[in-house]
Amino acid sequence: MNRRLAEGFSADITRTEHPAVRAVVALGANLGDRAATLDAAISELERLPLVDAVRASAAVESVAVKPDGPDADAPAYLNAVAILTTRLAPSVLLAFLQAIEARHGRERRERWGDRTLDLDLIAYGEVVSSDAVLTLPHPRAAERDFVLVPWLSIDPDAELPGRGRVDELIARLGDAP
Ligand code: ATP
Ligand code: CA
Ligand code: CA
Ligand code: CA
Repeated sequence: MNRRLAEGFSADITRTEHPAVRAVVALGANLGDRAATLDAAISELERLPLVDAVRASAAVESVAVKPDGPDADAPAYLNAVAILTTRLAPSVLLAFLQAIEARHGRERRERWGDRTLDLDLIAYGEVVSSDAVLTLPHPRAAERDFVLVPWLSIDPDAELPGRGRVDELIARLGDAP
């Protein structure tokens, strides 16, 4: 499947000379067999070219958040976080993440709609970028316990570039009204 995914890219990504960086990916699913989808997506991350050392958290369940706020009537999410090492450029990594989503039947309709699989690039090394196509770190990660808590569980010293230590971000969330 990697070769098939790679065929979509005109550049030969395996010839990319890019330093190895640590990237953090958040996985979420609230339709279908959520646990099986997350497991499959983690295996697909491991098999990506120029991606190594994938470490994934256990899955955690969380209530769906809609534009109007938390929605207990919507199917609940299973979320996990994976840390990996990659020599893919960030835009290429995002394109692979979107290809994996598509393979699992991801459809985009309304904002924050129910989905079989969502893969967000939470951080890519220390890169900070406000580009709308790929904002780094992910602009809403600092407020999401379903990202921060599984991330901290696999990296007690995790830091969100420009935002500080993940353990402190979680503590601050707990202070919210
Ligand atoms: P949210 O971004 O709030 O988690 P979402 O995951 O439901 O919402 P999507 O529909 O999956 O949003 O993605 C919308 C767009 O976000 C994508 O087309 C993508 O280009 C852009 N995007 C910007 N920064 C990132 C990032 N760090 N990771 C993933 N997608 C990003
Ligand atoms: Ca690999
Ligand atoms: Ca998301
Ligand atoms: Ca997304």
